[in-house]
Formats: sequence, C-alpha cells, structure tokens
Amino acid sequence: MSKAIICSCEDVTADDVRHALAKGYHDVESVKRYTGFGTGICQGKSCLSAVAALVAKEGPLKSPGILPFTPRPPLYPTELSLFASMPVEESQPPVGGVPQELGVFPQALRPTTELPQKAKVVIIGGGVMGLALAYNLSLRGEKDVVVLERGYLCAGASGRNGGGVRMQWGTASNIELAKRSIDLMKQFARDLGINVWLRQGGYLFLTRTEAVAKRLERNVALHNKHGVPTRIITAGAAREIVPGLTLKGVISASYNPEDGVMFPWAFLWGYAQHCLKKGIRVETYTNVTGFDISEGQIRKVKTDRGDIACEQVVLAAGAWSPEIAQLAGVKLPNEPHRHEILSTEPLKPFLGPLVSVLDSGLYFSQSMRGEIVGGMGDPHEPAGLNMGSTLRFTARFSQALTEQLPQVGHVKVLRQWAGCYDVTPDNNPVLGRTPGLDNLLQMSGFVGHGFMMAPAVAERMAAWMVTDEDDELFQRFNLRRFSSGRLEREDMIIG
Ligand SMILES: Cc1cc2nc3c(=O)[nH]c(=O)nc-3n(C[C@H](O)[C@H](O)[C@H](O)COP(=O)(O)OP(=O)(O)OC[C@H]3O[C@@H](n4cnc5c(N)ncnc54)[C@H](O)[C@@H]3O)c2cc1C
Repeated sequence: MSKAIICSCEDVTADDVRHALAKGYHDVESVKRYTGFGTGICQGKSCLSAVAALVAKEGPLKSPGILPFTPRPPLYPTELSLFASMPVEESQPPVGGVPQELGVFPQALRPTTELPQKAKVVIIGGGVMGLALAYNLSLRGEKDVVVLERGYLCAGASGRNGGGVRMQWGTASNIELAKRSIDLMKQFARDLGINVWLRQGGYLFLTRTEAVAKRLERNVALHNKHGVPTRIITAGAAREIVPGLTLKGVISASYNPEDGVMFPWAFLWGYAQHCLKKGIRVETYTNVTGFDISEGQIRKVKTDRGDIACEQVVLAAGAWSPEIAQLAGVKLPNEPHRHEILSTEPLKPFLGPLVSVLDSGLYFSQSMRGEIVGGMGDPHEPAGLNMGSTLRFTARFSQALTEQLPQVGHVKVLRQWAGCYDVTPDNNPVLGRTPGLDNLLQMSGFVGHGFMMAPAVAERMAAWMVTDEDDELFQRFNLRRFSSGRLEREDMIIG
C-alpha cells in the first residue's frame, strides 16, 4: 500500500495508478482518464513522468508503448478575459489547430493476446454507444460479444463531450429517449457501482431572435405533453436562476430543472467494467480494416490483429462510421464536424444549470469538480475528422461567455480539446438494418447528443436484437429514409 501522492493537483496516489493497471488500463492515456491524474492546474507537468515511470515499472507495457498523454493547450492557465480580447476574423474558416490528433495508434500499444476467432456479435467502436449496447446485450443473456476499439476507451466523442443531459428536444422521439436515458442515469451508480457525478441542475436555454423564441415555445408545449416540466420564462426570471447573467440581446428563455450534467469518463468505465465482468471482450487498440462479405451478409470482420467470424456486426464508430461503412460498400450520409470545448480552473459551486444561447451555440455549465466546462459551434467549420484545438475557438467562446457572464473574466482556462459531432442531414441517428447487407446493424449519427441518448437507445437496440420483435425506432431512423426523403428534423441542436 502506498498513499504517496503522485499527482498533487488531483490527489492521485501511486496506489490509484496501480489500481488502474490492475483493472487493465495499461497505457498512460487510459491511466489518465481512469485516475484523473494530469487534469488539474499543472496539466501533468509535475506528475506525468512519475506516472509514466510507474506504468513502465509495474505494468505489462514496455517502451515504446509508454507514451505521454497528448498535451492540451493552453500551455499555462490563462484568463478568459485575455482570450476574449483576441481579435477574431469571423468570415475566415477555422484552421487545423493543435495537437494534430493521432490518426493511427502506435503498434506497441496493440494487445499481444489472440482475438477470438468467432463471436455472435461484433461491435465496432468502444464509445458510449458500443459499450452501452454490449452492457445491455449482457443483461439480456447475450455475452458472446466482442467490442473492437481502435484506440483507448474515451478516445472518441464519448470521452470529449460536455456531459450535458437534457429532455428539452424538438421531437417526440428524442424527448422520450432522453427521459428514459436520464431515468437510467439516475440508477447508474447503483446498477454499475460507479459514481458518474450526475447533477440535475437544469438546462437554461436563452434565445435572441423571434424565430428561435417561437420555435422554443412550440417545443416547450411538446415537452409538457410528454410530461417534461419545461417552462418558458422571461429574461428577468432567467437571471434569478443564474444571478450575474447580463442576458445581453436575450428575449426569452426556457428552463427544465430536471435536465443536468454528468461526468463522461466514469460513464464509459462503468459500462466497460461491467462488460468485462460478464466475460465480454473489450479489445482496445484494435483497428477494423475491412470485411469478408458474401450473399448479402458480413461473414468476418477484419482487424489489424486478425479476423473474427460473426453472425451480426454493429457499426457504432461515431464520426468514423462513414469510413468503416465504406469498407463494406455502404454509403452513410453522416459527416464529421469538429466541435471545440474547454475547461477552467475549479470554482466554488455557483452555477446551477447548463446555460445555452440557442442562436449562437454557446453553452457552459459547472462540473461537480467546480470547473466551468463549455463550448460553442463555429458556422465556418468545414466537414472533416479534425480534432485540433484553435485559439480562434478559445477567443470566440471567451467573448461569448464573458458577454453573458462578465464575472468569470478572471477565471483561468486550464485545458481545451476537440471532438467530432457525427452529423446527419436531419440531426437524427442512423439505426437498424442496412439495406442489402442484412446483418450489418447501424448505430451512429448521434450529432451532439449521443452521450445522453446512449442508455435508452442501447437498451432498445439490445432488446430488438435479442428478441427480434419489431421496434419502430429502427424503422423510423433506418438508413432508407435518406433515399425516400422521409426526414423528421431535430431542431434543438446546440452548436
Ligand atoms: C465537443 C463535444 C461536446 C458534446 N457534448 C455533448 C453533450 O453535452 N451531451 C451529449 O449527449 N452528447 C454530446 N456530444 C456528442 C456525444 O459525445 C456523441 O454523440 C457520443 O459520444 C457518440 O458516441 P459513439 O459511441 O457513437 O461515438 P464515439 O464515442 O466517437 O466512439 C466511436 C469509437 O469508434 C472508434 N473507432 C473509429 N474507427 C475505428 C476502427 N476502424 N476500428 C475500431 N474502432 C474504431 C473510435 O476510436 C471511437 O472511440 C458532444 C460531442 C462533442 C464532440
């Protein structure tokens, strides 16, 4: 036993690192996410080498597998007001940013164990969707499942999101899915034995134009019809919920006290640990490279560690789904779009809800650790799998945030990062069987809300797969809709 502190910012001990190694998190990126080391004020500057040395000494990975985690800008904690003073050329498209994310994970990280030669179900993508589905399949007695993940768990959007969970949607399907998800999240800690730091502090949407205000009013009526207690409030009433808001340009708002925020990493660990306990293989650092197909069925999934024969394949690779579908000759309409996000130093609790200005796509909330976590979409962001961080984002976000909440101008940004929304033409997912390739099941296209939809979608998908009973969800959001043009557009998208 060693209580020796190895990361003083986040109180991570040498034993915490050993615990992560014992759980199977052998590389530094995974240990960072499992223990939280390196996410505090110094951003790993004082602890990274000590953790890497411990991982090298006591873990199974040896050099060159011991790589430091990807550093995040800014280099030093920097005040939001300084970023807000940077000029932004709004008409220009954003640049690539730093760091240029690892397109390929080093071979040294690849597990040396054999992959199973066959499995009933192969799930491609170890994000929240793939892991939640594997978990739900196990609850229904289906354990002959392998999850393939090309990087570490949390490498995709599921480890990079804002953790927002809300019932305020524009369509009945999404309202119902989110309601069910939040119910499941409330019992997640009890069911899976891990604290996911769910806090139902509400979501406060602000609007600045008549058109958006009207849309919000219409949507709130729909929420109420589905038993969600959202209410339209005045700008003044919004200030009572979040004192200090300037509400510059704001004409109306909506508030649902039952929405909230949650800590993404713990959610993934919970699902993954449960899968492993049930004997489901979760194979990280394993890249899907192709398929063996005959007579309208996928027979084998090919990977850089060998092939797996299977009965069903689930494509749950988020923003990477189109490129993987292409390997099977299937065209998905999804497009990846970078979304940037940042986190500040921790503050005492002062902010109840997640606040979002619908018109600009600004959003910010306070995590249970006290950090302000927020982002803002960029209308000029081109499609592409880009996960670099830009100064332009930090400047735009800081300007928009301090315009609404000037009191946080002195607060320092600790780190910024980016992930990709997996965007479909109607902002709804692609689910169900692939036309012409019967045993390829689609589970992608969750735009900026897949994290909160995963528990409910995965629950229904597992039931549908195991019982083969019809579920309208897999018809409604089938790939076929894009050719028939029967699209039901979701308009409550942030960013
Ligand atoms: C900045 C940002 C903020 C967001 N905020 C929210 C929010 O507040 N609330 C919310 O609900 N949602 C939010 N989202 C969206 C949410 O994160 C996603 O919808 C969700 O995480 C998608 O999960 P997924 O499992 O489909 O994809 P991912 O989590 O991206 O998982 C896909 C996985 O597939 C793996 N993969 C790719 N190619 C291969 C291959 N060839 N072989 C094997 N594996 C492969 C990837 O490494 C990845 O881990 C946000 C997203 C971003 C980027």
